[in-house]
Amino acid sequence: MDGPRAGGHRARATPAAPPLLGGVLDALPAPAVLLHPDGTILQVNVAWTDQLQHRPGLPVTVGDDYGEAVLAVRDDGDVRGLLAALGELSAHGGDPVSVDCALAPGQTGRWVHVQAARVDADGLLVVTHTDITARVEAVRATARRDRVDHLTDLPNRRHLQELIAAELTGDADRPVAVLFLDVDGFKAVNDSLGHDAGDQLIRDVALRLAEHTREEDTVGRLGGDEFVVLGRGCTESDAAALALRCQDAFAEPFRVADAVVPLTVSVGIAVATARQVDRATDLVRDADLAVYAAKAAGRNTVRLFSPDLRVAAERRLRVASELHDAIAAGQLVVHYQPLMHLRTRAVTGVEALVRWQHPERGLLPPGEFIPDAEASGLVGELTRWVLGTVARDAAAWDAMGLPLTAAVNISATHIGAGTLVADVTAALAESGLRPERLVLELTETSVAEDPERAAAQFAELRVSGIEVSIDDFGSGFSCLGQIVSMPAGILKIDRSLVAGVAGAGHKRASQSAAAVETVVSLARACGMRSVAEGVETEEQLATVTALGCTYGQGFVIARPMPAADLPRWLGSRSRRRAVVPG
Ligand code: C2E
Ligand code: MG
Ligand code: MG
Repeated sequence: MDGPRAGGHRARATPAAPPLLGGVLDALPAPAVLLHPDGTILQVNVAWTDQLQHRPGLPVTVGDDYGEAVLAVRDDGDVRGLLAALGELSAHGGDPVSVDCALAPGQTGRWVHVQAARVDADGLLVVTHTDITARVEAVRATARRDRVDHLTDLPNRRHLQELIAAELTGDADRPVAVLFLDVDGFKAVNDSLGHDAGDQLIRDVALRLAEHTREEDTVGRLGGDEFVVLGRGCTESDAAALALRCQDAFAEPFRVADAVVPLTVSVGIAVATARQVDRATDLVRDADLAVYAAKAAGRNTVRLFSPDLRVAAERRLRVASELHDAIAAGQLVVHYQPLMHLRTRAVTGVEALVRWQHPERGLLPPGEFIPDAEASGLVGELTRWVLGTVARDAAAWDAMGLPLTAAVNISATHIGAGTLVADVTAALAESGLRPERLVLELTETSVAEDPERAAAQFAELRVSGIEVSIDDFGSGFSCLGQIVSMPAGILKIDRSLVAGVAGAGHKRASQSAAAVETVVSLARACGMRSVAEGVETEEQLATVTALGCTYGQGFVIARPMPAADLPRWLGSRSRRRAVVPG
């Protein structure tokens, strides 16, 4: 084939098509032509005539030049390349030509798949033209969907990664900033207002972020309440300024479903150049670690990534995975510390305190692994194990005629996860323990994290007879009103207050005593009982008894002990008390 010839229609003899081929061509569903090696159309099939006769510039038919007809529709390098490939195939044979081709330049409009095969040694070609517009559009829609967040129309995680990666392939010294934004307390808003309002809020946040960032920045959504801002060419100080602008976007409260919703945002920043970081995922992960640190430091905070955050994260991950195996391997143990009723000196309950019998490091106190379990999301699994063990132990003591209450410490993250009620119910059902025997302890500071959520779950538990206790009261600076409105029956006075009460005549002792007395009266006024924690000396014991605390707990009474030791300890104690009344 010579390619398109100049000039309009030519007067020349049309070569005849092989007779059998005509029937085969007509059987093809797609418009098809038989081409002479010189480019003349020798034959067109029925589909060609049917589908193309009404098109502008057509009909193109037998005797016309194929190349000219094609170039009349679209003339550019791609199409000329296609025609050259057809000429090559006709002249020299080889693999069939098979290309997708837009009918108009610029990748819009209709698409055809052009397939050409050489049908004889003389170089005759059959060229079919299948309309693939629907398929191309479907593929493009999927690709768009795959890269756009459906709720906000912002770039999604995948597209953001592509955009960051593109930045990192540019100038090796140009900085790229990734800001990881996490809306504070969004889950609680979502739960209380409902998911439609939550979706609307997320859309509003997206709009505001777009308004508060520069034209050259990209705002994207990773999912949930997590957004990313890509700051092109941003140094650390530019990124910090950008983070503050993002926080400004939250200055005005949001309005949704007739509610006024004040929100704040925590921001983690990671800045690097292509020379320093080679993967977009690394930058996003660093910014994620920074926002984690920002959250841990309190709400509405900005934190810049530093390598020690990565070290800490790796440690957390290692401990979490070891701990997960430890639970399965039975390396966790629960020790029980007795709780004494101060007026009668009777031991009425115990507090369960978990320990990790580590194969190399020995018996680890909870302070060494609970924070990591909380950070890694493993604390739910750990608490379920503790609840199950404690419920079984307490049911066994009950059966032995030792009706003790057993208190289990609950983490704030467990309240946040929303499985507490189900987990407690399961432990009671499995052990047969009466709900009245179980106490759940939540620290004052964790209650303050999300008071409504804690209150809702505690209320549900208390209805079924389980007692709730506020731990370490006086160690934080929580709002008193919040604490007293909690559905809890016990207030545990923090060790730091109790430690100071003894030492008659000392100013600090009288101040501590006054503080404990105030808490005791506060508890009483709210219909709650009080516990003095960490009582270490006989003098402290006497003072907290005199100050009216209901219960005492501390080393002077007993240290935490394994479950198996408890009945013996109780037995020896009652024998001692029988001789020396206490
Ligand atoms: P907590 O709930 O306030 O428990 C009391 C802590 O004070 C225990 O430390 C106990 O051994 C210690 N203690 C008791 N009496 C005295 C005393 O007279 N003097 C002194 N100096 N300390 C005393 P432990 O066992 O190391 O537990 C520390 C914290 O770990 C607990 O504080 C609790 O918040 C947490 N924890 C313990 N077990 C669990 C658990 O199963 N789940 C969760 N989420 N947290 C737990
Ligand atoms: Mg406790
Ligand atoms: Mg405590």
